[in-house]
Amino acid sequence: MTATTTATSLATRALNLVNCGLVVLDDAHRIVLWNRWMAARSGYAGARVQARSLFEVFPELRGSRVETAVLAALASNIAGNVPQAQECAPFPLREAGSFDGARIDQAVSVTPFVEEGARFCLIEIRDVSGSVGRERQLREHAETLRARSYVDGLTGIANRRYFDVALDRELRRAQRTGSPLALLLMDIDSFKAYNDHFGHQQGDVCLSTVAQALAAMLKRPADVAARYGGEEFAAILPDTTLQQACAHANAIREHVASLALAQAPAAVRPVVTLSIGVAGFDGSGLNEAAALVAAADKALYAAKRGGRDRVAVDGGASPI
Ligand code: GH3
Ligand code: MG
Ligand code: MG
Repeated sequence: MTATTTATSLATRALNLVNCGLVVLDDAHRIVLWNRWMAARSGYAGARVQARSLFEVFPELRGSRVETAVLAALASNIAGNVPQAQECAPFPLREAGSFDGARIDQAVSVTPFVEEGARFCLIEIRDVSGSVGRERQLREHAETLRARSYVDGLTGIANRRYFDVALDRELRRAQRTGSPLALLLMDIDSFKAYNDHFGHQQGDVCLSTVAQALAAMLKRPADVAARYGGEEFAAILPDTTLQQACAHANAIREHVASLALAQAPAAVRPVVTLSIGVAGFDGSGLNEAAALVAAADKALYAAKRGGRDRVAVDGGASPI
């Protein structure tokens, strides 16, 4: 065996052992080389496709990015890539030995070259199914973590972090569209007395019950109920005027009282009650989230001072 034949047969061996699809086309798109990887995954042996146009063997490639890349390579000597993100499985290729399974995800690159004065192009096809699956898993995992990071662990409603994001977003939307927006800050009355009397664990159950009752009262999809801190809750009410928000705050207050959750003897009422502060953005004042929260907090303080189990509004008592 001469050195040249040894090199040629080694090249052929390597071509058939390589773990990716290799196809060489001549300048009329005819297949002049088709490695074993392609045969195993397409179901076409090299002898069947030899000298046939690639687009005749795989008509579905017409109009695809692979065709564009092949034409650019052969006509203009331009190399190109078809990353998996653009067309995930342009060639009808399946796992070796399974011709009815799912297509494998592919990354394709096309490289022109000249040999003895004639133009050819090399198409390399890599199986990226594994990395695509892993990427998908990572994305889903990240999404789960992100969703969890917005949920309050004790009550299951949105947490303070979500509240901050949502209030900013809704305030910007209200400014853009000129619609009103209201904010409710709610605080359970005499909750220290509740804990002292019933114990902290029962206190946790009470917090959850009140949170669920609050969430159930906010029915519009854009409404947000959140645990703001300890025994404080917040509600963001888009497209709601101050007056409507006060009416809604009173309905929430009455609903929580109607649950008739027994309170401690030292509390202001025999059942668990809420004090609620209301503030609103109406296209003019309070156009910063912090200012809106401060106004609702001030109103909440007024409700507490006024005797608890009541609603107060920024700039005065509840009009209801
Ligand atoms: P006020 O009517 O003025 O709101 O009186 P209060 O007793 O509710 O207010 P204070 O701020 O004095 O007490 C709040 C209590 O809420 C004290 C704290 O231990 C309790 N608390 C805060 N977070 C939790 C929690 O996660 N679980 C339980 N069980 N209690 C909590
Ligand atoms: Mg409090
Ligand atoms: Mg309290």
